[in-house]
Amino acid sequence: MGSQYSFDHPDPHNAFITICHEAEYGEGPLSGIPVAVKDNISTAGIETTCGSNILKGYIPPYDAHVITLLRSAGAAIVGKTNMDEFGMGTTTETSAFGPTLNPADTTRAPGGSSGGSAAAVASGMVHMALGTDTGGSIRCPASFCGIVGLKPTYGRVSRYGLIAYANSMEQIGPLAGNVRDCALLYSVIAGHDPRDGTSLDLPAPAPLKPEIAGKRIGVPAEFFGEGVDPTVASVVQSGIDRLEGLGAEIISCSMPSMQYALAAYYVTSMSEASSNLGRYDGVRFGMAPDFVRLWHDAYSHIRKTGFGEEVRRRILLGSFALSAGYKGKYYAKAQAARQMVRNDFARLFETVDMLAGPTMPCVALPLGETSNPLSMYLADILTVPANLAGVPALSVPCGTAHTLPVGLQLIGKHGAEDEILSAALAFEEGSA
Ligand code: GLN
Repeated sequence: MGSQYSFDHPDPHNAFITICHEAEYGEGPLSGIPVAVKDNISTAGIETTCGSNILKGYIPPYDAHVITLLRSAGAAIVGKTNMDEFGMGTTTETSAFGPTLNPADTTRAPGGSSGGSAAAVASGMVHMALGTDTGGSIRCPASFCGIVGLKPTYGRVSRYGLIAYANSMEQIGPLAGNVRDCALLYSVIAGHDPRDGTSLDLPAPAPLKPEIAGKRIGVPAEFFGEGVDPTVASVVQSGIDRLEGLGAEIISCSMPSMQYALAAYYVTSMSEASSNLGRYDGVRFGMAPDFVRLWHDAYSHIRKTGFGEEVRRRILLGSFALSAGYKGKYYAKAQAARQMVRNDFARLFETVDMLAGPTMPCVALPLGETSNPLSMYLADILTVPANLAGVPALSVPCGTAHTLPVGLQLIGKHGAEDEILSAALAFEEGSA
């Protein structure tokens, strides 16, 4: 039996949906370290809601693969963090459990959808946390809360036990206060798992050392395109100058497929969501009908009251995009655009080692300001390309704009987490 960790923190930012006041921990590289876990990752015996009413009361009978790995590394799993419902959002405001507040400024959103994980780390409640990133949900809150977050290569971390939103793009990854802690948590969760058919069998992560001198870093002009806040752009530009000062070679380049990336992402993610969320019928998981009804009445009642507005919007749009007669027009076009994004990365990575730019086009938004879905989707423009192509990407703090944190994004080649983490460490420590 392991030892008990008493976790007794107030949660003024509403970072958690469930707190485990007594958490068991064991021996290993994370021995006794409190780790928070996003509430879409299955934890045996601990309620797992995905931030949704429809899963309230659902207690998974098994652990996700990453949870098994955390436990055998000795970590104390101290709770499940708040998130946009099913990961659909950029602010953590679509949660059925109320919004999370940004510890850097409590009138603002922490970003999303892993906003609870980021706020738990940024407020000092935990050292590190797991998030998931389908279109930016680790990197966006890391950027807005002033911490480090890594989206690994697609297939690098097992998705066994992750409750799916858009499974062709999402990855579980670490958030932490600094690059070393982020890399430590990554090294615990990365690895092959036969229970995930998309899992990759790659060598174990290498020990981390700061390394940037001589690296060729591409900066696509489109990363500083229309819609990027000029103050954010100049903070990130000075971050890139610092990379150059550390011995990196900065190369201007272009990524024309950026103009299609957001549409490709949203058509693909909504299509996959419409299929993945079909399983919530009030019979097998969570919420159940409160009285006997005809089957189709019960089904529509549960889904109407169980899902929030944004989730229902996406199921409807995704079902439409996949419907007979429209599939070629939307879904097939999105896949063609996705291939263009992949091709652009492949071409750029023939001559550069990694790409750099802002993580987000703006700083953390005031709470309550994202009622227009389209303007919320636009904020994801700089993060979705890495998900479409499956390449690793991280956000590392780079300074402040309008007194709020700004993140620098580094995007690497497939399987090159070590390379972008080493570059981020050099950047964070100011030494190569
Ligand atoms: N904001 C994006 C979306 O709403 C990304 C979410 C995510 O990565 N889970 O789909």
